[in-house]
Amino acid sequence: MSEFFETVKDITSAAMKKADTTCKAARLKLSKSALNKLLAGQYIELGKTVYNMCKSGDEDSQEIVSITAQIDGTRRRIAALDRRIDDVLGLVKCPKCGAVLKIKNAYCSVCGKKLTTEQESIEENENEMNIITEER
Ligand SMILES: [Zn+2]
Repeated sequence: MSEFFETVKDITSAAMKKADTTCKAARLKLSKSALNKLLAGQYIELGKTVYNMCKSGDEDSQEIVSITAQIDGTRRRIAALDRRIDDVLGLVKCPKCGAVLKIKNAYCSVCGKKLTTEQESIEENENEMNIITEER
């Protein structure tokens, strides 16, 4: 009988772990969509700035440089989130061919490139909300 309960416990903890992963991935995807909205807004801002510059004939390249830097920052954060989502789901992208692979593979099964596990550098307990709010 105790064996039965052990099995149930195993199944339950596996299910909970899976639910946790799904939940975490969903949260990260939500953060990513918020960042994509932010990025879209920044592109609009950049467009408006260029439009106004053309209209008025005033060159304010400083403002364009500043918005461009903000866009680069947002794009970096989206890329970092993408890596974390892959990480949470246990996936890794081959740096050479871009194939999505299971993290445990030592070599890319598509192109044969040796895969390093530098994913460790991504901080696990980093607050997802920080990604959105920082550097605004
Ligand atoms: Zn590859």
